Amino acid sequence: MITIIGGGPAGRNAAVHLANAGEEVRLIESGGKNGIGGQCLHYGCMLVCGLNDVARVRAQSAILNRRGIFKSVPEIDFTALINGLGEVQGKIAGFLDQETKDAGVEIIYGKEARVRGKTVLIEGESHAPEHLLIATGSRPMVPDVPGVGLPGVYTSHSFSRLRTLPEKVTVVGGGIMAAEFSFIFHSLGSAVDLVSRSGFLKNLDPRLRAAALRDLSGVTLHENSRMIDIGGKNNVNSIRFEYEGAIKETECDAIFLAAGLVPRSESITGLDKGPSGEILVNRKMQTGVPGVYAAGDVTGCPCLTPVARREGIVAAENILGRTCEMDYSAVPQSLNLMYEYAFSEKERKEGVSLWVPGPAGPGTFWSVPDGHTGLAKVTADPYSGEIEEIGIAAPAGGIIAAYTTFLIRMGANVHDFDKFLEVHPEADGLSSLIKYASRRFEREREN
Ligand SMILES: Cc1cc2nc3c(=O)[nH]c(=O)nc-3n(C[C@H](O)[C@H](O)[C@H](O)COP(=O)(O)OP(=O)(O)OC[C@H]3O[C@@H](n4cnc5c(N)ncnc54)[C@H](O)[C@@H]3O)c2cc1C
Repeated sequence: MITIIGGGPAGRNAAVHLANAGEEVRLIESGGKNGIGGQCLHYGCMLVCGLNDVARVRAQSAILNRRGIFKSVPEIDFTALINGLGEVQGKIAGFLDQETKDAGVEIIYGKEARVRGKTVLIEGESHAPEHLLIATGSRPMVPDVPGVGLPGVYTSHSFSRLRTLPEKVTVVGGGIMAAEFSFIFHSLGSAVDLVSRSGFLKNLDPRLRAAALRDLSGVTLHENSRMIDIGGKNNVNSIRFEYEGAIKETECDAIFLAAGLVPRSESITGLDKGPSGEILVNRKMQTGVPGVYAAGDVTGCPCLTPVARREGIVAAENILGRTCEMDYSAVPQSLNLMYEYAFSEKERKEGVSLWVPGPAGPGTFWSVPDGHTGLAKVTADPYSGEIEEIGIAAPAGGIIAAYTTFLIRMGANVHDFDKFLEVHPEADGLSSLIKYASRRFEREREN
């Protein structure tokens, strides 16, 4: 018997993989009947998708309205939006539940499992499975400041409790999650302040960052600002922060915390953990206790669904006795605003960087007059043609980055892209930029 704790992307994918291989698998999910799918489905990626789809339509409508093509920008029925999100998420959870059970996995819903080394405890009963996979995921980081418990403070886990769209919202955080929710709130119609402890989107390529900031041009940024406290009585009404030694304050009727994720490992003992509580594993996803594996966000960054899924499969393969290691080189990821700001990079980045504005195409045509058609970037070694980094801002940037990264991981270099046939029209500047790099490097080598 194999026990898996957590029905998110890591645990569920491992469970189905193992059951398909003929193993007896029990999956324990604390999150009730609809809990399967984990944070990704209920409080993360799918929540952002559902909201961003609406936000983008409104942002595009605003562009067409400015041009006089649309006579108005659609008004949002916020209650219908929240109810609709829950309905669709419930439907997806139903599909996942069915698929998992059809594979032969036994699912135990609504039980919080605790772990001591290799022993699993559920409601006072304990058992020691032959193999154990811990995939308990992560949760939003909640900074310990006065007022953080006031009504009106939300995270992605409590977003669905919002009854009305806030008039003024302050988003706290400086990374992808903070950017995505700032875009959503602003596009839906809220006035948005963003308070970021360090530089906002500081890890993003500067050109991608500059392009992303155009999608966030209506958001008031407070960078390098440390949150001090949250004010209010029955509901939040302000937030104070320190900027260059001075105390500043913004008024708001809601605060959205998007300051990162922390591993959900407090119910796990008897295993080695890192400073943030992440369970320490090797590249086979093995912990220090034989037969005990961990995968997904509970093992720390990067907190991404495809990484969690793959880690779950790697753990499952090793449980099946087939040696398999996790490969973290060039993991593609995306920041979703009006466009998708997607990128991947290898550790080594010593090549030549080239970039080009995005072409007119589906989703960028009406942004040509504003000069905001996105962009593409590539960094490659001019001698070997090895691609070390890609970046793209385009309506389908995430898909373009995923497939291009796959080719790069398979060893494709800039010259291989000479044979690449693109689809036209498509707002993809990356393939033509890589072809240009190929010709240019060849020319330079000849001279
Ligand atoms: C707002 C937001 C946006 C995101 N956007 C993206 C994105 O665009 N792309 C992307 O790749 N990633 C995104 N992520 C990250 C992604 O959601 C996570 O990386 C992914 O869900 C991790 O999967 P997991 O299986 O490790 O854990 P989780 O999805 O967190 O699932 C863990 C499961 O374990 C259960 N559990 C926890 N403790 C116990 C216990 N003791 N007993 C039983 N069950 C337990 C939980 O209920 C949960 O269902 C986003 C996250 C957030 C919060």
